[in-house]
Amino acid sequence: MRERLEELLNEARAEIEETGLKDALVGVKSKYLGRKGLLQGFFKELGALAVDERKRAGEFINTVKQSLETEIDSRLSAIHAEEQAERLKTEKLDVTLPGRARSLGSIHPVTRTLYEVQDIFASLGFGIAEGPEVEIDYYNFEALNIPRDHPARDMQDTFYINEEVLLRTHTSPVQIRVMEEHPPPLRIIAPGTVYRRDSDVTHTPMFHQVEGFMVDTNVTFSNLKGVLTHFLHSLFGDSIEVRFRPSFFPFTEPSAEVDIRCVICKGKSSTCRVCKGSGWLEVLGAGMIHPEVFKSVKYDPEKVSGFAFGLGIERIAMLKYGIDDIRLFFENDIRFLSQY
Ligand SMILES: [Zn+2]
Repeated sequence: MRERLEELLNEARAEIEETGLKDALVGVKSKYLGRKGLLQGFFKELGALAVDERKRAGEFINTVKQSLETEIDSRLSAIHAEEQAERLKTEKLDVTLPGRARSLGSIHPVTRTLYEVQDIFASLGFGIAEGPEVEIDYYNFEALNIPRDHPARDMQDTFYINEEVLLRTHTSPVQIRVMEEHPPPLRIIAPGTVYRRDSDVTHTPMFHQVEGFMVDTNVTFSNLKGVLTHFLHSLFGDSIEVRFRPSFFPFTEPSAEVDIRCVICKGKSSTCRVCKGSGWLEVLGAGMIHPEVFKSVKYDPEKVSGFAFGLGIERIAMLKYGIDDIRLFFENDIRFLSQY
């Protein structure tokens, strides 16, 4: 028995020596030391031996078992160390290599201009409201004093979804929705996207507008002039000249268009392409909110008054940054966008 055990020990040692992989070594361990392993067979033979012989043989089997266990475990930790050394070698960090630079994004010029406009009105105490882009005819037209047979409906080319549902052509419907839900006094701007069937160097089918309005008792046209002049000075600089021209919108009366001095030629060139020689650039539409609009939101036009205005963000951004084609905003050319 002793000889067979020594033979077994030698075989096992040879196998341990040969095995280079952790998994294979675990297999060797269970082959010799497992519950159904080869060494277990020797324990079973013990019963057939005489008492004193049984004791000696048992001790010897245990010695073999212990040395196998120790040898397998030390081999296992050696393999583990080898693997780790190998991994450290391949994963070595060269801290002297220059880092990979990450390119930073920039804020889109339209968004940047929108933020600027919002900041100016927020500093005047205006809150921000939003409304749906898919709008119903009532809010986009009727409640704004543009009934079905009104010629002003020709002023805008509308994307209709069906007879009652459309893509809003301006942010003015938000004015109605806010006034329906809240009593005056109100100071609100409503930024958002609007849609019209129009496309050339100064028009895109989708663009951004900011609607603004203020309603209270005794709001006058001079409040309108004061707020909008302050706004344009904040946006284009205190020295920019501002003028108000009479105009017409169905939802305001009286109405005005607001111009600034041409930012390119300062009004000094009769051949300027931007202002077409007029010396002025139109930037805002505005006016005193029409009594019919107040009636449609159940305000009493005898008791409250207010002004409203609207502006196109792309137009403001074009003038501010000297961009001559509106389509550049939406082509997503990174060379253009990264300048801002
Ligand atoms: Zn000009």
